[in-house]
Amino acid sequence: MGLFDKFQKIKQSLETFSQYSDSFFNVVLDEIISSTEAIINGRHTILAGTNNYLGMPHRKECIEAACSAVREMGTGTTGSRMANGTYGIHVELERALSQFLNKKHTIVFTTGYSANLSVLSTLVGPKDIVLLDADCHASIYDGCRLGGVQVYRFKHNDVNDLEKRLKRLSKPDTNILIAVEGLYSMLGDRAPLREIVALKREFGAYLLVDEAHSLGVLGEKGRGLAEEAGVEEDVDFVIGTFSKSLGSVGGYCSSDLEEIELLRFASRPYVFTASSSPANIAAARKALEIIQREPELRERLWDNANLLYERLSKHPFKLGPSPSPIIPVRFSEIPRAFEAWNGLLENGVYVNMVLPPATPDGSALLRCSLSAAHTTDQVEKIAEAFESIKHLA
Ligand code: PMP
Repeated sequence: MGLFDKFQKIKQSLETFSQYSDSFFNVVLDEIISSTEAIINGRHTILAGTNNYLGMPHRKECIEAACSAVREMGTGTTGSRMANGTYGIHVELERALSQFLNKKHTIVFTTGYSANLSVLSTLVGPKDIVLLDADCHASIYDGCRLGGVQVYRFKHNDVNDLEKRLKRLSKPDTNILIAVEGLYSMLGDRAPLREIVALKREFGAYLLVDEAHSLGVLGEKGRGLAEEAGVEEDVDFVIGTFSKSLGSVGGYCSSDLEEIELLRFASRPYVFTASSSPANIAAARKALEIIQREPELRERLWDNANLLYERLSKHPFKLGPSPSPIIPVRFSEIPRAFEAWNGLLENGVYVNMVLPPATPDGSALLRCSLSAAHTTDQVEKIAEAFESIKHLA
C-alpha cells in the first residue's frame, strides 16, 4: 500500500477525460485583456465562466486603490489578524461591511473559504446539529467537519424535507444551525429563504446564509437574497466573499450577535493564517463603494443574464430553473459535455465545465456566468457559440 494508491480512481478519471479534451486540464489564461476577454491557447476568447459579476477587477478605481495600498503598506501583511496582520484598512472594511449590511459586527477573513471554515468549525461542535442544504459549498461542509458537529443534509431547496428533519431532531438542549446559500453556485437558483426563516423561528434554530454569489447581485441595494426576500433581520450569520462581485480576495461574516467577536480568539482558521493583503482589502473596499453608488451595474448584469437565458431557451438545452447570472447547461452524458465545451472554446467562448461529484445530480454541466461588463455583442456571441453546439443538447 503506497500513500498515493487512493488517488488511482482520480488518475483513471483524468485519463478517461483527457481522451475527450486535450485542453480541459491545461486552460491557461495567457493574457488577460479585460474582465470579459482573454487569450486562451493563442485564441481571443470571451470569458463566460467567471464569478466576475460586476467587472470590478478591471475598474480603474479598484486598480488605483490596490496600487496605492501596495505603495503605502507593502505587498503583504506577513501576519495573522490576531498578531501584526490587522491594519487600519481591515478594520475600516469591517465597519463598511457592517454599515452596508446593517449588521452590528463583521469579521474579515483571508478568503471566503476560510470564513466558512472559521465560523462553522468554531460556532458549532459535537453537541450541536447543522442542517444544511445538500447543494451547499464545500467550505460549509469542511467547516462542519472541522468542528466535529453532527451534520444532516436536507434535499436541495426542499422546505418540507427541512421541516421533517427539524421535527425529528429538535430537542430543548440541542442547538440547531440551518446553513444555506443565497444564490446557488451550480444551478443559479435561490434558496426559499422566507419559508426557511419561518421554520427557523418555529423551531428556535439559528440561520447562516452564504451570500457568496448574491452580494451585489440580488436585492434593491445589492445586499443579497436576504434583502430581496425581506428577511435580513432573521439571518444570524451572513457569510460572503470578496472573490466574486467585489473582484478581490477575502471573505467575511456579519452578525448582530455580539458574541461573534469571540470567534477572533477561538477560531483556528482565523488565528493561524496571514491576513488579506492591503491590495486585496483596498480593492474590495473600493468595489463595495461602487456597488452602493452604481445600482445600474446590477441592472446591466440582469439584462445580460435574461438575454442569454432567453436565447438559450429557444433550443433544447437543459437549463437551470430560472434566469440568473449563473446559467447551467446540463448534459446527462459526460463525453457530450466535453464535446460541447470543446466546441464553445473553438468558437472563442470559455465556460466552466463542472463534473460529478461537484455537480448536484451526477450529470455534467457547463456553467455560464454573466457579468455587467459583458457587452450585448458579447452576450450575442456567447449565444451564437451555444447555437453552434445545439445538436449536442
Ligand atoms: N462560498 C460559496 C458559496 C462559494 O461559491 C465560494 C467560492 N466558490 C466560497 C464560499 C469560497 O470563496 P473564496 O473564493 O473567497 O474562498
